[in-house]
Amino acid sequence: GAPPDALTVTELTVAYGPVRALRAVSLRVPAGGAVAVLGANGAGKSTLLRAISGVLPFHGGEIRGGRIEADGRDLRGRRADAIVADGIVQVPEGRQIFARMTVAENLRAGALTASRRGVAETYDLVMRLFPVLAERQRQRAGLLSGGEQQMLAIGRALMARPRLLLLDEPSLGLAPIVIDRIADTIRDIRRQDIAILLIEQNAALALDLASHAYVLEVGRVALSGPAAELAATDEVRRRYLGDN
Ligand code: ATP
Repeated sequence: GAPPDALTVTELTVAYGPVRALRAVSLRVPAGGAVAVLGANGAGKSTLLRAISGVLPFHGGEIRGGRIEADGRDLRGRRADAIVADGIVQVPEGRQIFARMTVAENLRAGALTASRRGVAETYDLVMRLFPVLAERQRQRAGLLSGGEQQMLAIGRALMARPRLLLLDEPSLGLAPIVIDRIADTIRDIRRQDIAILLIEQNAALALDLASHAYVLEVGRVALSGPAAELAATDEVRRRYLGDN
């Protein structure tokens, strides 16, 4: 049969104290697939990623119901580092690179394996995906442009050899031409058989990159379907793509 989904979220409910941020949210990311989650500020997108990556408790949040499964295994209640070791790696919003370390040091910090050969192989792959980083390996990361820092953050996540990459607003604060380059890279990553869950306020970008998309509105899935179909609906065009 078909391989198990890279991620299956079923009826997930999350709260921060009295504030319910997600209400019975269900979604799936097929193995190697690219899925986008759209939504306005506060719709619950970051909360969804925090619940999957296991960092929700650090933000004062709590899973109140539902399931999160990857490759058929339950992620609920597991530690964030164990989830990374399982191949689910988040690229945080705002990049969070180590500004005083070099590009090469930032990348090596993302590696999990102790095998020098394994690290070297993955490092070479990242250099091929990001020629810009290859040119700047010995530079301090803090001196990179915003777009280069986003590439470094994605490259660092790839060093952990993920099966599923969680991308939190990769276009945030970047100029359109830079966003185009990030988009090209995300397409290259898809070709490496890495599944992607992309959280974006830039709906045009998200619907272009993903094959399926979910629209979150105040903590619920309001719409979902193939990206091309969603992009053609009146509601998505008006509310998220800025058409009149
Ligand atoms: P943004 O794009 O602004 O990050 P979002 O779609 O990612 O928005 P979330 O950040 O997941 O949305 O927030 C969903 C809801 O949960 C909002 O009502 C928000 O105010 C609330 N919330 C988020 N983080 C916390 C927190 N640490 N403590 C309390 N409430 C929170």
